[in-house]
Amino acid sequence: MIVMKKKMQYINTILFCILLLTGCGTETKQNKIEAEVKATGENIPSETKEFFSMDTYMTVTAYGLNAKKAVEQAQSRVVQLDDRLSTGKEDSEVSKLNNTSRAKLSDDTFYLMNKALEICDTTDGAFNPAIYPLMELWGFTTGEYKVPTKRERYKLLANMNPQNIKLHENTNKVAFANEGMKVDFGGIAKGYTSAEIMDIFRENGIESGMVSLGGNVQVLGSKTDGSLWRVAIQNPETEKDYLGILEIKDKAVITSGGYERYFEQNGKVYHHILDPLTGEPAENGLKSVTIVSEDGVLADGLSTALYVMGTEKAKKYWMNHSDDFDVVLLTEDEKLYVSEGIETSFETDYDVNIIRNGKLR
Ligand code: ADP
Ligand code: MG
Repeated sequence: MIVMKKKMQYINTILFCILLLTGCGTETKQNKIEAEVKATGENIPSETKEFFSMDTYMTVTAYGLNAKKAVEQAQSRVVQLDDRLSTGKEDSEVSKLNNTSRAKLSDDTFYLMNKALEICDTTDGAFNPAIYPLMELWGFTTGEYKVPTKRERYKLLANMNPQNIKLHENTNKVAFANEGMKVDFGGIAKGYTSAEIMDIFRENGIESGMVSLGGNVQVLGSKTDGSLWRVAIQNPETEKDYLGILEIKDKAVITSGGYERYFEQNGKVYHHILDPLTGEPAENGLKSVTIVSEDGVLADGLSTALYVMGTEKAKKYWMNHSDDFDVVLLTEDEKLYVSEGIETSFETDYDVNIIRNGKLR
């Protein structure tokens, strides 16, 4: 029997927002928004919109004179990006590229292609945008799940060499050198979207705002009273609890885990983050990976990549790139590793193992 479970992202989103605003979850969200604005002692206009796009519930909040305009522009931008990047939409740029092996892309999609290949390179292929045919094989694209044979998997793995994706910088044209290649930006699209929303906020003079895309959060500046945003990190074990709370400003906080989307067959769980070495769901000792970075796209790509790498490689990767991001790793055996850059800004009830990079501070 096959059962599909997608996490109750709406409930999570609400939990996140409450925590973002207050750090506790007893009153309604609307009450808390009002409470916070009053608490600042100023009358700063604010606007919040909740909507469903990119297969997830989103909340966008801005504080400032142009808050309403900024949030409306953010929503239109999300719709535009979804139209360009969605593999589920037949006429998206990504679908056109996948169906015909070539396409002239918008700046958005071309930029993401470049970023995806860069992250593929620095992660030794743990993140690989050419994963899409395998996502199809497992049925994650249609909901018609099946566990493929080794032979079926290896046939597709042989056609995932990123060097067969040819980019023409001046024209934004992309072509696949091999038939049957298909790309999927599902591992970075939401991080790009939240980063773009931060740009829209800045263009509108907004100095304080936040977006939560199905639990992936990015914040601009600090809260209106000058204090840091408090962002809860999901606990993969339970929907009611969280791993801990991060105090941040100007950062994206993005979590990946096998618990987000999966199906079960004969008592075994198969999730949606695939290991490009085996073509199977990554099972390398991690339950979840949270990346904290100023760069939303990088945070999203690395949350997927480090989950694939597993604990030891993920720690090492952070040590070699500690200027670019921080990380929270939860292992299958419930150990929590936190990189030293967020040692003092992460509160948790877990015993924490700090990952240090050995550099003088
Ligand atoms: P979520 O979609 O739950 O936010 P992720 O950011 O980890 O989680 O992205 C998972 C998505 O990334 C998958 O649904 C699929 O589209 C894509 N993906 C799966 N495995 C890989 C991989 N090894 N490299 C790149 N993209 C992947
Ligand atoms: Mg990701």
